[in-house]
Amino acid sequence: MAVYLSLGKDKQGNFHHIDDQKSGRGTLFCPFCDCPLIAAKGRVKAAHFRHDGETCNESLNEIPQIPAWHHFHLNYPLEIIDALKDGYQADSKSPNVFQHWKSGLHRFPRAAKEELFSRDDWTDNLTFTDTARTILGSLPLLGFSQWMRNTLQMRVHTLREAIDQGTKHRAWLEIEAHRQQAILKASLYLFEYQLADKTVIHKVGRTARAPEQRLKKTVLGL
Ligand SMILES: [Zn+2]
Repeated sequence: MAVYLSLGKDKQGNFHHIDDQKSGRGTLFCPFCDCPLIAAKGRVKAAHFRHDGETCNESLNEIPQIPAWHHFHLNYPLEIIDALKDGYQADSKSPNVFQHWKSGLHRFPRAAKEELFSRDDWTDNLTFTDTARTILGSLPLLGFSQWMRNTLQMRVHTLREAIDQGTKHRAWLEIEAHRQQAILKASLYLFEYQLADKTVIHKVGRTARAPEQRLKKTVLGL
């Protein structure tokens, strides 16, 4: 699949998504090579930025997904997810069933095993790590919040190291910082509306604005 650049950078170093841009030449630049960008918003291809000049190679790389923000599978293949869910169910049934499930643990690749399970040295009990519980959806909200913050910090740390070693373009760190800020600034809302005929409807979503502002907009939309 072709990858298209979806983020442009302004003179001040702020990032802007293609969705918020008008079609045509704007004031944004490629985050990787500083070439001026043209917003291409046609009907056939997904909206994207085109270089007003030669397209640089770096911009052809996909902007990575952020685990647990875009999806809860954390880049694990479906077999692992399914096996993990089986294990979780077995664990909630009885120690015997779980014992049986554990005997198939060798199906997990080593790295996955280390990330998803921890073993108590004294009791030899196997428990699911917070990462596994994030996939399973069984981590309480506070624990998830902590896990998410650690994960985001780790991503920055890893990127910084790669940039220091010269294996990654600096712009990847700036892009990551921009996206993480957007995540951390977003608020989750649950709105309840009562219509004129007394029906009640609910809406769940997230917004970068104040929820009150969002509420006004959605009321207009109804
Ligand atoms: Zn470029």
